[in-house]
Amino acid sequence: MDVCRLPAALEHTPFAEPHVPSGVLEGWWPLLAEAHERLSQIDPGYQVAQFKEKFGALRLYIRPSDSALSEQVCDIVADLERRAQSICERCGQAGVLREGRWLQTLCDEHADGRAPMGHRDNLFNPFGLNR
Ligand SMILES: [Zn+2]
Repeated sequence: MDVCRLPAALEHTPFAEPHVPSGVLEGWWPLLAEAHERLSQIDPGYQVAQFKEKFGALRLYIRPSDSALSEQVCDIVADLERRAQSICERCGQAGVLREGRWLQTLCDEHADGRAPMGHRDNLFNPFGLNR
């Protein structure tokens, strides 16, 4: 993973600070830019502890400058993390969580034949083992 590549919209934002590793592909960058826009409106002093892809989902770890803002910050983070679940991490088009050695949220084009994690049972039986 290239840790230095981030879009221009995220330069000079807390997302680009050297201690913050970049762990998501470009399809989700517009969500990060939106996160910065919305977070800086309510809390210009917010900090990014980390952001990454985990189990095919976007994870944002944001520290508000004032704990009184925690709830608003959490609401923004929850909204963006939820929306990322239906956006291809590679290209930003509509995507779904895909099966594979590692889970990823991808559109049909970037899925490369990987099946959607369709059935809820898959979450509890990800390798299709007999129970
Ligand atoms: Zn895609």
